[in-house]
Amino acid sequence: MNAPLARSGRVARLPVVVGNWKCHLTVPEALALVSELKIALVDLQGVEVVVAPPFTALPAVARWIDGTSIGLAAQSCHHVDYGPYTGEVSAPMLKDVGCRYVIVGHSERRQWSRETDEVVAAKTRAVLRAGLRPIVCLGETIEEREAGRAEERLRQQLEGVLAGLQANDLRALNIAYEPVWAIGTGRNATPQQAQMVHTFLRSVLRGRYGEAALAVRILYGGSVRPDNTAALTAGDDVDGTLVGGASLVAREFVEIAKNTKGAAR
Ligand code: PEP
Repeated sequence: MNAPLARSGRVARLPVVVGNWKCHLTVPEALALVSELKIALVDLQGVEVVVAPPFTALPAVARWIDGTSIGLAAQSCHHVDYGPYTGEVSAPMLKDVGCRYVIVGHSERRQWSRETDEVVAAKTRAVLRAGLRPIVCLGETIEEREAGRAEERLRQQLEGVLAGLQANDLRALNIAYEPVWAIGTGRNATPQQAQMVHTFLRSVLRGRYGEAALAVRILYGGSVRPDNTAALTAGDDVDGTLVGGASLVAREFVEIAKNTKGAAR
């Protein structure tokens, strides 16, 4: 699960860096990228590294990383386990090909595939049902931030997901705070903005589940680069990063992993 460790009286969560490859890379390209990662990350300690290739590359990448510490994520899944849903891929199928995680509710899916908070909640439950770990994305638009409604929107998105969960689901739950205005724009949140939002999200989790909320890892995503990772992940409630563009360049993704929180170099 998210491996909370007791460290001087407070819960320490294993930091995690997730590379979201989006709709990029053929199978040979995916294997070339992951081969570089395997070599460069072999001695990395103190941070979990996960890659999220497109569906087509999942089985080949799963075989390539077998026996390494690199984890595999899918970028989405259907909210029903099986049935007449042409073109969909379900959570049990993703488990079958070696996934450990599934990203749900990415803002690009909310925008282009019209995924609502209800669909994101149903997908989260499907991922947990399959014994996988959801990485639930949420974030405000620039209009919502400028109107002073960021917290309201984030609370709405988070509570929508939590409505169907029990306290014991929290050990598998990962949240990714991804301000929509920061995704692929080169404009990241400041470290202070990230920590403030993460503290807020944890307070919502705590209000509902008490101490169980301390097991949930909260990742930051949005224009993460090697040179801003250390500052962005410095806050106590920032447990890692979800990386888009920079995860397609092995050298950059490796630097991001090495610069994440207490990762040993
Ligand atoms: C993402 O797609 O989740 C993301 C954060 O993208 P980028 O790092 O390119 O902003």
